Amino acid sequence: MVLFAKRSELLGTENAFKVGEDIRRVEASGRDVIRLNLGEPDFNSADNINLKAKQEIDRGNSHYTDPAGIPALREAIAEQVGRTRGFSVIPEQVAVFPGAKPSIAYTLLTYVNPDDEVIYPSPGFPIYESWVIYVGARPVPLHLEESRGFAFTAEDLDKLLTPRTRVLIINSPSNPTGGVLSQRDLEEIAEVVRARTDENFRIYSDEIYEQILFDGNVHRSITSLPGMRERTILVSGHSKTYAMTGWRLGYAVLPTVEEANAFKQLNINIVSCVPPFIQEAGVEALRNPANPAIIAEMSRQFQLRRDMVVDALNAIDGITCARPGGAFYVFPNIAGVCDKLGILRAYEGLPAQQKKRSSPSTLFQLFALYRHGVATLDRRSFGVVGSEGRHFLRLSIAADPDTLKEGINRLKNASRDSEGFADFFSRMPER
Ligand code: PMP
Repeated sequence: MVLFAKRSELLGTENAFKVGEDIRRVEASGRDVIRLNLGEPDFNSADNINLKAKQEIDRGNSHYTDPAGIPALREAIAEQVGRTRGFSVIPEQVAVFPGAKPSIAYTLLTYVNPDDEVIYPSPGFPIYESWVIYVGARPVPLHLEESRGFAFTAEDLDKLLTPRTRVLIINSPSNPTGGVLSQRDLEEIAEVVRARTDENFRIYSDEIYEQILFDGNVHRSITSLPGMRERTILVSGHSKTYAMTGWRLGYAVLPTVEEANAFKQLNINIVSCVPPFIQEAGVEALRNPANPAIIAEMSRQFQLRRDMVVDALNAIDGITCARPGGAFYVFPNIAGVCDKLGILRAYEGLPAQQKKRSSPSTLFQLFALYRHGVATLDRRSFGVVGSEGRHFLRLSIAADPDTLKEGINRLKNASRDSEGFADFFSRMPER
């Protein structure tokens, strides 16, 4: 008898959380760490939202709710999504979860059989690939190329679609690249989807960064295009827009009430419901007219930091960094640094088993953390399948400007420290 079920080996992870163990180890050794790993606003939720939750708790609003979400919240979501995407949504199409994340699992569990294929962006949010593999489906990464601003073309998509493809996952603005799909990109994707798939094909559109956009960009959703809302699971939530990551509040708008009920059924089986005072605070977030200005100011701050960080990274020999159009990440190419520090060579010399679990950018990420005190994430943290030969890091810019400056300074020092890397590598325990 073995302890763990077979499938438990298949589950991936989100290194943004997992790297916490390494950070604690580094801190325990007496070195401070600049944390650019986790994707959450460094701003707090607005006073009006906080106050509402406190009032609701005091009022005794602390019991189970409708597993699909309280009617007031589903109405507010239906109204907001309908208004911004230009079609009518009814509250019965909406399902509310503890964060946007559960909807990834729910989508894979609801629509995808073993051996079906799922196309997802790579680099992309790692939980997509994790769940695709967990349900026994075939992972089909859609590579976002740096040279195209981390967008993909309809042609790329067309090549990957087969009769077995059940779901296409898209995410704009994107984690980890900050890339934004243009109206034209979306139109082309929609055209391919209309031409190549049937009515049971689903798009999972992760729009969680919808309001964190730069340079005057406006959010565009594939659901606004003809024939698309009938096949799209539109997902968003409060974590990023309202700086409510730890509150755990997210939602999906499903193409049909029947599908929303399937998601509700999963809530009943797994979480029952989101705490009622959090859902009430979620209504406040959506309805309080003071909040759009707060969001706009947060995005403005992120844009200023983006400019500072992108310029500083591009000034480092061996690093090139694209300027993201939204979200709060930058995704520099560190191929030059991997070459300069001898990391490419060191990686090639690793035993096959170790090589499979690592990559040059993983080695640099570990070196930068353990020897230079700056926590970032490697390329493999955003989809392993097909990630070989791609050398990137993700930095979160959701940190105050002084912290960001110090973090980049440490990266710069790491990028010049060949001797330090050689020493680190020679002492590195097996990973
Ligand atoms: N999708 C993407 C693209 C994300 O970046 C995140 C959070 N990092 C999520 C979903 C999950 O959001 P939540 O915290 O609301 O579950």
